[in-house]
Order: sequence, then structure tokens, then C-alpha cells
Amino acid sequence: MMLDSLTVVMIPAAMSIVLSGILFSVSRDMPLDIRGVTRWAWGSFAVGVSGICFGGRGVFPDWLSIIVANIGLLAGVALWLWGTQQFYERPEAKRLIAGVVVLGSAGIVWGTLVVPSYYFRLGVMTASLLYLYGGQLALIVRYGFRHFSSAFLAAILSIQIIVIAVRGVTAALPGFSSGEFFSADIIQIVYFITYTVVSLLLAVGYVMVATQRLNAALAWHATRDSLTGVLNRRVFSEICEKELRRSVEARRPFSVFIIDLDHFKSINDRHGHAMGDTVLIDFCRKIEKAIGPNATFARLGGEEFVIGADLSDADAIELAGAIRASVAARSNPFLPHYTCSIGIATTRDLSATLTKLMAAADDALYLAKRAGRNAIKHGDFPQETAASGPLLRSSTLTIP
Ligand code: GH3
Ligand code: MG
Ligand code: MG
Repeated sequence: MMLDSLTVVMIPAAMSIVLSGILFSVSRDMPLDIRGVTRWAWGSFAVGVSGICFGGRGVFPDWLSIIVANIGLLAGVALWLWGTQQFYERPEAKRLIAGVVVLGSAGIVWGTLVVPSYYFRLGVMTASLLYLYGGQLALIVRYGFRHFSSAFLAAILSIQIIVIAVRGVTAALPGFSSGEFFSADIIQIVYFITYTVVSLLLAVGYVMVATQRLNAALAWHATRDSLTGVLNRRVFSEICEKELRRSVEARRPFSVFIIDLDHFKSINDRHGHAMGDTVLIDFCRKIEKAIGPNATFARLGGEEFVIGADLSDADAIELAGAIRASVAARSNPFLPHYTCSIGIATTRDLSATLTKLMAAADDALYLAKRAGRNAIKHGDFPQETAASGPLLRSSTLTIP
């Protein structure tokens, strides 16, 4: 009995070509830094065309249904591997991959025209495909983001690898293989089912990992400042409104620091805007190191930043001292010396809001600037009264 080549190969191959179109469309929607999807699309296209050629075995001439079909499959799977290397930003083993495709193709031509042998061709394809699929599986296992999409791709590739290996091994054993491509022996049937299903599901898996990457990138950009990578103002407010509430309800103090770089305009004027940007990045790394994981740090805009943390006024002043010293210390000889001024406000008041606390810290910052810059001021945050808002009542200059 022979398998019906139209059903087992041709129709899935046509679907693979349709899926390559979807991958092409997805690749156009990806930002420039998500790469590899176009190569996956070409891979699915090549595998689809190769499937059409395979399906014509016995009807099409052998050069088309054997040689072009097998080379197309090798090229397609190679493109998938190449795309995966690009997607995970790994060094591209172009020569090695091309070498495997060229050697495999030469083997197919030899095993068709020079010494026609189904088993020889099967051996060549088994070795080449195991290398190409195995390389891809290794990349996904090693560099894939911990997410269902990566597990899905890894599972699909593992199944394909196992089936190719079993087909290769059983072909070498007596009694398993009939030596015919479309024969209905169990190994060939399993091979065809996995080969067609895998070709289609891989394309689906590629769309899934690319979409997951895109979602992660969008989420990052929606919450972060693009220059420094620290949180933006909106996310700061969301996080610290809750933290402030939690602290005051537990009768614990909460502090906000507003930090502004001193004479930043003159850094830009003297060293250029690009150096100004580098200083902002350097500043953020210093702050992150100083505050540790328990405080929330964000860029308010320009050269103005904010920190929220459940610290008492004494602890807040101590942390501000460490920040001020670390910023003023010249750790990178390629950057100009720069300093910052810090205004702090602390509250335990149940009626306090983040907006009011930030306004009080901003008032303290103004005093720190007036005190000559490179300075810290702590402003008290009094109970709100009907007559006056929670403005600065007094301030203590802690470090000149
Ligand atoms: P002060 O000590 O009073 O804070 O003086 P200043 O010069 O730091 O303050 P001012 O508000 O006069 O100037 C802030 C400057 O920061 C002006 C603006 O061009 C610059 N700036 C804002 N955002 C960026 C940025 O993203 N990159 C760079 N390089 N400069 C920026
Ligand atoms: Mg400034
Ligand atoms: Mg400013």
C-alpha cells in the first residue's frame, strides 16, 4: 500500500507557504531590534516549496521531486536555524550552516544521479537535519525566555529530532523500512505526520516567541524611561501611592526624595548633549547601587529624579548623604564632575497623599538649591489644617 502524496505532503506544504506569508507579515510589524522573523518566514516558504516537490514523487522528474525537494528542505531548516540564531542574538554560524547544506545537497545529488540509493539519501538527510534541528533546540533551551512559547518550540523540535533519529536508525535495521518514500510502513507514516505537523507548528511557535518578545519590549517601554532605563513618572506614582498607603496604615513612615542635578545645563553647554546623556545614565546607575532593591526610583523628567521608600526621616537623611557622596565622587575619569541636590519629605500621616509629599520634597529641594547646591534638605510634612496645605513647615540643612 502506498500513501497518498497529495494528502500527506502537498496540502500541508501549501499551508506552510501560507504560514510563511503570515510570518513575513509579522516580521514587518516587529521593531528593528527583534530580528530573525524574516529568515523564519523564508524557511517556512522553502520547506513548503520543498513539500510540493516531494509530493510529486513519481509524477515530477526525479531532479525535482528528489533533488530540489531535499535541498529545499535542507535550505528551509537551515534558514530556521539561522533565524533562531539571529532572534536570540547569538553569533551567526553562517559558514557552518552553509557547509552542512552544501554537503547535504552534494550527498543528495550523488545519491540520486551517480549511485542512486534511497538509503544513502536517507542517511545524508538524517545527519544534516539532526544537526540543523539539534542546533536550534540547543539555542532555544539555552537562550529561550522562560515562557510557554519557548517550551512549545522546544517540544516541537524535540519530537522532530526523535522521529528523524528513529527513522534513521530503523532504516539501517532489517525489516523496518521498505526502501520507498511513500510506502505505508509505520516509520514513514510517523515521519510524514511529524514532518508536516512540525513544519506548520514551528511557524506558529515562531509567531508566539516573537509576539512574546514584542509584548515584553512594549511593557518595558511603557514603564521605563528610554534613556536611562529607570521607571517613568506614571509607574512611580502607581507603585508609591500604594506603598505610601501601606506604610501609613501600618503606622510606619514613608519618605520621598526629589533629586535634581546641579548646573546640568552648563554640563550640556560645556561637554555637549551626548555627554549630558551619559552623565544622566551614570547618575542613575549610582543611585540604583546606593538605594538597593527596596526603594522605588524614577525619572520625573529632564535631570530631575524621585525616590520613594519606607524610611524614617533619620534613615532618609542617611541614605541621601550616601547618594550625595556617591554622585559627587568622581568614579569615571571620562565623565565631568557633577553633583546633585536632594529634597526629602517624610510622613506618617494617614491623610497624606503622594502628590502632597512630592510637593513638600520639591520645596525642600528648592531650599537645597538656594543653600548652594550639592546639598540635602529635609522638609517636615505637617498635619493638614484647614488654613494651610501640607507645605514645608521647617527644614534642616543636614549637609552643606
Ligand atoms: P540647577 O542647578 O538650578 O538645577 O541648574 P540646571 O542647569 O541643572 O537646571 P536647568 O533647569 O536650568 O537646566 C536643566 C537642563 O537639563 C536643561 C536641559 O537642556 C537639560 N536636559 C533635560 N533633559 C535632558 C536630557 O535628557 N539629556 C540632556 N543631555 N540634557 C537634558
Ligand atoms: Mg538641575
Ligand atoms: Mg531641573
